[in-house]
Amino acid sequence: MTCAEMGGPCDTAITADTQDEMMSKGMAHMEEVHPEMAADIKAMPHDDPKMVEWNQKFQADWASKPEDAPEEDAAPMTAPEEAHEEEEMAS
Ligand SMILES: [Zn+2]
Repeated sequence: MTCAEMGGPCDTAITADTQDEMMSKGMAHMEEVHPEMAADIKAMPHDDPKMVEWNQKFQADWASKPEDAPEEDAAPMTAPEEAHEEEEMAS
């Protein structure tokens, strides 16, 4: 997806294997290139109607991308990322 497709102001292409990854990469791009927008988004509560609407659009856009649709459970080629586990907290 591009930054513009995610509601951003530029056409930088952002690629990811999963919706979550897309989301975090998009956010990282925002923070790097459009820090003011990133701040706005962060300041918005998740249940804000704008955020809900954005989320629905994002998910619809994501689902409409045939090349990245690893949603199905039967996807043996995609190994789960081990780094996804919670980082150990010093206890
Ligand atoms: Zn951008």
